[in-house]
Amino acid sequence: MRTIAVEEHFVTPAFVQGPGKGFLDRFKNSGPRGVLISERLFEMGDKRIAEMDAAGIDMQLLSLNSPGVEQAEPAEAIAGARDANDFLAEAIKRHPTRFAGLAALPIQDPAEAAKEFERCVRQLGFKGTNINGHTRGRYLDDLFFSPILACADTLGVPIYLHPTVPHKPVADALYGGFSPSVSGVLASSGWGWHIETAVHLLRMILGGVFDRHPKLQVVIGHMGEGIPFMLPRMNRNLTPQLTKLARPFGDYLRQNVHYTFGGFNFAPTFLNLLLEIGVDRIMFSADYPYGSMEEAKSFLQHLPVSEADRERIAHGNAERLFGL
Ligand code: ZN
Repeated sequence: MRTIAVEEHFVTPAFVQGPGKGFLDRFKNSGPRGVLISERLFEMGDKRIAEMDAAGIDMQLLSLNSPGVEQAEPAEAIAGARDANDFLAEAIKRHPTRFAGLAALPIQDPAEAAKEFERCVRQLGFKGTNINGHTRGRYLDDLFFSPILACADTLGVPIYLHPTVPHKPVADALYGGFSPSVSGVLASSGWGWHIETAVHLLRMILGGVFDRHPKLQVVIGHMGEGIPFMLPRMNRNLTPQLTKLARPFGDYLRQNVHYTFGGFNFAPTFLNLLLEIGVDRIMFSADYPYGSMEEAKSFLQHLPVSEADRERIAHGNAERLFGL
């Protein structure tokens, strides 16, 4: 069964000295696993491919690791995005059947971001962009970012909306007050990343992004960042009379959004997503190197779905959405 993993990460030497300065620190104190993760993030050749082979993964759709360039000064973000995209394009050139790419974009400067987006898709053959959440507290519903959304629409490629740490005032108010390590995990992988990403998507819907761009497709990971659980409630309470949107709230979540595993290899969470959204919008991902490709593949192989649906999740939906 061809298997495409669509939320897989890398870093570049320039990234960890520039927009991602300090990024490697968290791995230094986390023992052998931390060392392994940081090695794997840099490795874009034979070792990564050997691991993919061992896990039965045919292709990784790659994106620059969060925080990406989104929190940097505009000039640093422009240079950082270009470096990461060129680095990724070289890796894809060496292994065109095993790697595909999502563009990093300097979204602080929407005109430059649109130019880089176009270069990545038209010249480098990338399949969309990966945006790491807010930019210093600004979200994609802000009309400031319109050129980037219009560009995705024109190019006909999706936006992967990836988590990032919440904006500092949000993190302090909601997640502060515990030990630094508890607050840190609560604000990130324990809860905050996911809720932050979910709210970001809800803001895009309520801000009319998908009324202005009805064909635009957004991808979120982590089995839907909690959204499927809340979907019936939001659909009932955020009515078109209230929101003044063109469609019922749930329609946007079923017509403009795709969902991936992202290391959430939890059967009840998957079943909730399947029941609310349907199989045509669910895609496999491992969130490498944080999630294990073997575990994700085994989870996929044991899902209680038909073989035809397993194929849709493993590769068919990704092939259609990203043109792979
Ligand atoms: Zn990820």
